Amino acid sequence: MNRLRFQLLFLLIICAFFLEGCQPSSPAAMREPSRTYAAQNVVLVVIDGVRYSDSWGDSAYTNIPFMAKQLAPQGLFHPAFYNQGVTLTMPGHVALTTGKYQRLSNRGSELPLYPSIFHYYRQHSKTAATDAWLITSKDKLEVLGKTYSQEEVATFSPSSNCGVNGLGSGYRADEETLKIAKQIFQEHTPRLSLINLHEPDTEAHRGNWDGYLAAIKKSDRLVHDLWNWLQQHPHYRNNTTFIITNDHGRHPGRRFTDHGDGCESCRHISLLMLGPDVPPGSRAKKPRTQADVAATVAELLGFPFPKRDGEPMLELFKEEPLVEKAK
Ligand SMILES: [Zn+2]
Ligand SMILES: [Zn+2]
Repeated sequence: MNRLRFQLLFLLIICAFFLEGCQPSSPAAMREPSRTYAAQNVVLVVIDGVRYSDSWGDSAYTNIPFMAKQLAPQGLFHPAFYNQGVTLTMPGHVALTTGKYQRLSNRGSELPLYPSIFHYYRQHSKTAATDAWLITSKDKLEVLGKTYSQEEVATFSPSSNCGVNGLGSGYRADEETLKIAKQIFQEHTPRLSLINLHEPDTEAHRGNWDGYLAAIKKSDRLVHDLWNWLQQHPHYRNNTTFIITNDHGRHPGRRFTDHGDGCESCRHISLLMLGPDVPPGSRAKKPRTQADVAATVAELLGFPFPKRDGEPMLELFKEEPLVEKAK
């Protein structure tokens, strides 16, 4: 009899365990912003597939004169910033926007598992979809605005303008992407946006070394031009955080044509941050990773964001809080 009771109890425990597994996942623990910031807008620019050694790792900054000599003195540069997930375009971008390292198709055929900063921002701010934008040269990055999540926040998708004409339409020139970005900023003044520039990655995959270097130089010029444009725009001047990073690096030496493994050269990327909350001309010390960007953007724009693989990079900001957050 005792043995039967024990078996029944065991069966009940097993059933409870499986039923629990069938429930929708409980809401993730949320992290609240710790203070308020001067930044009212965040523009995140991802330059696709640039090796650290061909950009910031070159002490002469041959390929990035504008970023290194014009922009860095105005902001913060991070020399120890890494992709710690899969070093491909889709997983790299998904880590940046969801704060979660996820293995997913690199062709745009799978969606992020988790809602992104765009979703949480829009849900919290109760703004229209035109207040958050994906503006990307690679069409497949349109999936960053979507998610498999069934949570209510997943309904707050951003607007998108990706590739030639959306998912499946192919890549477009980076100049075109920047031109469109300015038009969108002019018309909708979004507070949160992501821009992707694809040409360094695409030229490298073609095995065109000179084209790859020229594309890095072009990206350098384009981001400098965009920063200056934003500083002349009444909505963005002096209150915009500008983050320039990469999705991944590339293999070392003559293997520059490809990327995707865990080698140091694929993992080591760069981070440059400008804006009113960042000490000008500073360099970060504590190593950080891509997954920290989403939580940092949420902290800056003041919306709650789930605790995932990253955390806000509070050490990057000026020490004196401008306004203490009310408890
Ligand atoms: Zn690539
Ligand atoms: Zn590699």
